[in-house]
Amino acid sequence: MSIGEFDLVEQIRRLASDRPDVVLGIGDDAALVAPPPGMQLALSTDTLNSGVHFPAETAPFAIGWKALAVNLSDMAAMGAIPAWCTLSLALPDADSLWLSEFMRGFGTLARRHQVALAGGDTTRGPLSIGVHIIGFVPPGLALRRDAAQVGDDIWVSGHLGDAAAALSLWRADQAIPDALRSRLECPTPRIALGQALRGIAHAALDISDGLLADLGHICAASQLGAEVHLENLPTSSALLALTVDTDTRLQWQASGGDDYELCFTAAPCQRTAIARLADTLALPLTRIGQIQATPSIRPFYRNHPWQPRQAGHEHFCEDKSDACKAPLR
Ligand code: ADP
Ligand code: MG
Repeated sequence: MSIGEFDLVEQIRRLASDRPDVVLGIGDDAALVAPPPGMQLALSTDTLNSGVHFPAETAPFAIGWKALAVNLSDMAAMGAIPAWCTLSLALPDADSLWLSEFMRGFGTLARRHQVALAGGDTTRGPLSIGVHIIGFVPPGLALRRDAAQVGDDIWVSGHLGDAAAALSLWRADQAIPDALRSRLECPTPRIALGQALRGIAHAALDISDGLLADLGHICAASQLGAEVHLENLPTSSALLALTVDTDTRLQWQASGGDDYELCFTAAPCQRTAIARLADTLALPLTRIGQIQATPSIRPFYRNHPWQPRQAGHEHFCEDKSDACKAPLR
């Protein structure tokens, strides 16, 4: 069903999530919110473009979910509590059925994490979804990329490589096991983990572009290096069940993107606290390496240096090799 822009916005307004500290939500020239006194605000934005960040045929529920999930993941990576967001939608046509499924995906995750959709913008154009998110964090406690220390353990949450495996099967037109598909389409932002790591972790980020590339950001910001032992990477049973050679699996796990797990560093004296956290959250937390003074990332597999085929995804990459074929983030 095709409708006008006003009706689209009205449909979004009816389906939007809310929370009590939104003083004025959708409908005016700007939203008004009441931040908790004494907190620092954490601001972030991420855009998903059709054909770049998700295959064009992706179900609208999954697109809505993922558009918010990748932004929530940034809040998680900062140890921030997400609160409000805005939504910039460019739609090729005004399809009310598409929009209601999109909003169901977006809203399910928004309500799960008590995030209000407080405003946005709706235009016509190639399908693109931009989300701005705002959260808060106690002063001085945010998890930053530049705070890793020599001797820190390197940890990752959950399992790595599922999303990259799903994308690879998708591109090859092969059947995708549900467990892998849902990790690509509907990733789980590690909000509770991020907040619990405040005061435990030194540095953290979320893995969107591939473990080694993202860990490189922590090392560059902290002016340090790292050794990573890939035989320790946490692997899901769904990924293990695929019949692929070890190197292909390791490429997905070490360099594939879209996992939205957290990678963090912490002093060795925090191992017990982190193990307890894994139990409490029922989320695997796995030690995979160590921060060192020598710059650069050194991956090993069973004590042999290991070569990634690609460093990770980069936007506006000139090279047309596999590394640059999408999804570019
Ligand atoms: P204006 O042109 O004055 O900016 P709009 O017509 O774009 O107003 O939007 C009207 C109201 O609807 C605003 O409060 C705006 O924040 C909200 N809005 C528009 N598009 C969206 C959207 N995609 N998601 C959420 N709110 C939206
Ligand atoms: Mg206006």
